[in-house]
Formats: sequence, structure tokens, C-alpha cells
Amino acid sequence: YAKTHGRNSYKLYTADLNVQSSEFMALANSLHRALDRHEIRVFYQPLVSLQTGKIVGAEALARWQHPDLGIIMPNKFIPVAEQTGLILRLSEQILFEVCEQMRIWESMGLDYGWIAVNLSGQHFQPDNNLLEIVAKVLKETGIDPLHLELELTEGIIMQNVEFTIALLSDLQDLGVKVAIDDFGTGYSSLSYLKHFPVNALKIDRCFIQDVTSDRHDATICLAIIDLAHSLALEVIAEGVETQEQFQFLKDHGCDHMQGYLFSQPLPTAEFAKMLSDGKSL
Ligand code: C2E
Ligand code: MG
Ligand code: MG
Ligand code: MG
Repeated sequence: YAKTHGRNSYKLYTADLNVQSSEFMALANSLHRALDRHEIRVFYQPLVSLQTGKIVGAEALARWQHPDLGIIMPNKFIPVAEQTGLILRLSEQILFEVCEQMRIWESMGLDYGWIAVNLSGQHFQPDNNLLEIVAKVLKETGIDPLHLELELTEGIIMQNVEFTIALLSDLQDLGVKVAIDDFGTGYSSLSYLKHFPVNALKIDRCFIQDVTSDRHDATICLAIIDLAHSLALEVIAEGVETQEQFQFLKDHGCDHMQGYLFSQPLPTAEFAKMLSDGKSL
């Protein structure tokens, strides 16, 4: 396989990765080139205050602008990046691009609040120098760390609790904020939660979807909001699509939300325009 695809291709042995689809193999081979050519683009989805209805920040979401296949979504290529180890390079690129972009917005006088960047489990392995990478990107771009938030899932923390807690605490000492993504879908133990050095919980979209019609989902959302606030954490609802969901979350004291009701993830220029237009709900 590797022979027919030239020198830059990865040697993906089916014995190691089980039997991968040919689509996976094709993406794995072109992802390396995609990183060299900066084909991975950052889209920004506004984060909105439930109290004011105004933009308070954004989540950076990766999109692969593939020359032949068009836009490829993260659910397709993030797993490929993880299994090939390219996720570290990819995230470093995204982190750098986001911080450079913040600088540009600052020079335009745009108040973008804070930008959240997703991280993968591999960043939280001892040899991968996440702290040094984040510190370097902040230093090289001159961004105030309080404008940057890092998102990770419960599963990542639970893989290596002691190490991750120490690393998150170092990141907080740098001044960056940390959020637990997809909260409620993982397996973090509540007894650990009080020790996690984090600033925010993001309620997973699966609890928001039927929050106004399913009493169990409503109860879970209220419990997460309560839990977050009693631990002095902010709480953000993901995947808000209707005015009813928005009102429910607002009435129950959730802090922020993101979702198609306000906006889909946008290319840089469109997000900047939304900021300068001062869109609000
Ligand atoms: P996530 O971090 O939980 O991001 C939220 C996802 O929900 C995004 O999907 C977003 O487009 C989608 N979403 C937001 N509002 C709504 C809504 O109202 N309705 C619906 N149906 N969906 C909504 P996306 O961009 O496809 O990303 C999927 C996942 O891929 C992300 O979930 C994240 O886990 C991962 N991902 C994306 N970008 C990156 C990245 O740069 N690095 C890493 N490591 N992972 C990333
Ligand atoms: Mg996220
Ligand atoms: Mg999420
Ligand atoms: Mg996710």
C-alpha cells in the first residue's frame, strides 16, 4: 500500500489498526499534505450570553477544505488525525491560527471575548508538552491568556487523573481557561469533579435537544446548572436550536449557549462581521 502512494504516505498496517476502510486510508494519506498546505480551516461558532443575548466569545471548529472532496467535517477527519498521530500538529496549527486571528481582531477593535479550542486526549499524555506549546503560542502571538479557553472531555481527564489535574492546574496558572466539553456523556466521577481545575462545564447537546418536552432531560440540565454553580463554574449549553430551549435555559440560570438558533459555525470573515454588526437575540 505504502509503495503505491509514494514517500510521504503513512504505513498503516491493518494488523495494528484493524481493518480500516479505504476511505480512512485515503484521508490518512492526504491529511499530512493538508497540514503542509493549510487546508484545515477554522470556523467560529458564537457563544452567547443568555442574560444579554449578545456574543461573548466563540468556539473554534475545524473544517478541512479538501481540493477534490470539498469541505470535510471533523467527525470524519479528527478520528483519522488521532489514529495517525497528526492530531498534535493539527491542534498546534489551529491554536496558532486562532491566536493570530485574535490579534487581527484586536487591531480591528473587535471585542471577540474568548475563543475556545478543542483538544484531544493525546495532548494530555506526559510527553506531548501541551503546557509548553500553549505558552509558546501565547508568547509568539502576544495574546492575553484570558482570551483563550481550552476544551477537553471527561474521558480525557479520567484516562490519567493525577497527571491531567496537574497539567490543567499549570494551564490555569498560565491564565487560560478550561472547559469540560460534552458534559454528562462521559464517565467522570462527581467525587473527582471538585478537584478538577476547570472553569466551565458545557452541557452536551443530547440533553438540550428535548429539554422542553422530556422531563428527564430537563431534570438533568437543571442538575448540571446547579452543580456547576455550586462549584463556582460557568455553564454553557450546546446545540440550542429553538427559542423555547433558549428561554428554558435563560429562566433556569444557565450562563451561555451556542447553537443554530443564534448561528452555525462561520468562516472567519462572517464571524467578524457578526461581531461588528453587534448581532443579538
Ligand atoms: P464539540 O466540540 O462538542 O463541538 C460542538 C459541535 O456541535 C460542532 O460540530 C457544532 O457545529 C455542533 N453544533 C453546534 N450547535 C449546534 C446545533 O444547534 N445543532 C446541531 N445539530 N449541532 C450543533 P462539528 O463542528 O461538526 O464538530 C464535531 C466535533 O469534532 C466537536 O464537538 C469536537 O469534538 C470535534 N472537533 C471539531 N474541531 C476540532 C478541533 O479543532 N480539534 C479537536 N481535537 N476536535 C475538534
Ligand atoms: Mg467543543
Ligand atoms: Mg461538545
Ligand atoms: Mg465533542
